[in-house]
Amino acid sequence: MNEREMFQGDWNCCECSADIKELPFNPRNTDDLKCRDCMAKGRPARQMFEGDWNCSDCDAKITVLPFDPASVESITCRDCHMKNKPARRERQMVEGDWKCMDCDTAITSLPFNPRDPETVSCRDCFQKA
Ligand SMILES: [Zn+2]
Ligand SMILES: [Zn+2]
Ligand SMILES: [Zn+2]
Repeated sequence: MNEREMFQGDWNCCECSADIKELPFNPRNTDDLKCRDCMAKGRPARQMFEGDWNCSDCDAKITVLPFDPASVESITCRDCHMKNKPARRERQMVEGDWKCMDCDTAITSLPFNPRDPETVSCRDCFQKA
């Protein structure tokens, strides 16, 4: 693999006016150059890859992808991708017999196992706190 050719020059970042000594491309317009830092901050629009693929699930045509697909066999369209996402796991609840330390309400389940059962508060009091 060849090192990417760098272009040497004497430019200034249009945002922070930092010196720019080299660039991975030959700038046509030197007025809106950005240094690496500002570039990272500015986050240019996500690069999209154009192509002619088919969804491996529903056979829908796919013409753009946010990444360069390594394997053309396993591309799924946005719909199928969403469908295949594992459903959000139900939060495990711990069953028990506690009392809210603030309002004395009985608490029978909690999203966690309380280390100190004396300092458990009910949802209401918890949200108030
Ligand atoms: Zn800059
Ligand atoms: Zn699909
Ligand atoms: Zn309470």
